Amino acid sequence: MKKNIKNYNLEELKEELKSIGEKTFRAEQIFKWLYCENVNSFDEMTNLSLDLRKKLEENYSLGLFKIEKKLESIDGTKKYLFNVQDDEENIIESVLMSYHHGYSICVSSQIGCKMGCTFCASTGIKFARNLESGEIIQQILEIEKDSEIKISNIVFMGIGEPLDNYDNVMNAIRIINNPKGLNIGARHISISTSGIVPKIYDLADQHIGCTLSVSLHSSNNKKRGEMMPINKVYPIEELMKACNYYIEKTNKRISFEYALAKDNNDNLKDAKELAKLLKGMLAHVNLIPINKIELGKYSKSSNENIIKFRDYLNNCGIIATVRRELGSDINAACGQLRRQNLKK
Ligand code: SAH
Repeated sequence: MKKNIKNYNLEELKEELKSIGEKTFRAEQIFKWLYCENVNSFDEMTNLSLDLRKKLEENYSLGLFKIEKKLESIDGTKKYLFNVQDDEENIIESVLMSYHHGYSICVSSQIGCKMGCTFCASTGIKFARNLESGEIIQQILEIEKDSEIKISNIVFMGIGEPLDNYDNVMNAIRIINNPKGLNIGARHISISTSGIVPKIYDLADQHIGCTLSVSLHSSNNKKRGEMMPINKVYPIEELMKACNYYIEKTNKRISFEYALAKDNNDNLKDAKELAKLLKGMLAHVNLIPINKIELGKYSKSSNENIIKFRDYLNNCGIIATVRRELGSDINAACGQLRRQNLKK
């Protein structure tokens, strides 16, 4: 099987080219074709010799996807189902959202998810594998090409747990960040995690500069454990210790995600516990009215409860906002993405 050329960051590609007897400056030329010109074939790389183009064609792939389906919401959000064209013909989902400040993409990091959160549609079908760096990036490239736009913000909130595929996600970010790659600054990238504590420490030490979102959903170990099995491995106390370390190391605010489910985690007692937990922290709370999923036992809190919850936090000096719901009519909202497989 040919190697996906988009799995290499710029330094690695230089090494790779050296190993096949080519000059290293070719790597920058190739990067430009891949990430600025978004080409569909090595043949289009016209400043490379015919010989080199042939050599690349024989040894590497461009990791292109096939668009299996495209759905458009009434609010303009688009969901893409990509066939990653592997042996299994796996399908992944990515979402394009348009804001006044530009276009954001929600990318998947794995094919399926191992975390088992009980309110999320990505749980369910079996976990298949991690996405490679090139496959993470290809989601951006396919959407830019198809929608004829330039993406300015990336959130790792699609299918999968990005910190469970740490190395590939970090390498993808290196390519995304590189001014000769996609040239999107770290502050325009958010990583969302269910709370893989050791990887939060790694991320803090790596000074990557992205925004960290932590899916909290409850400040109570019993309740959180019921919603998120990972809490049994890394309970709230350990998670908060890691978050405080992250803030101390990076001086960056953490965004805590809190999906409000009716009669579960949405009453004032929950808000009080949450306020106590986050008091004095450099944090922001993102309240998400929970999205109903097939077979899910949770339903959305009432608007009234959501506002009460938000106001309580704000009155305690904790910044909390309610996230705008996008794309729920096409199952493109938070937690509604799932893994599919064409062969089945
Ligand atoms: N695995 C990562 C990223 C993927 S989920 C994580 O857990 O953070 C992206 C966000 O959507 C997370 O905050 C997740 O908890 C939230 N989410 C999942 N299912 C949801 C649902 N049904 N309604 C609202 N938010 C949901």
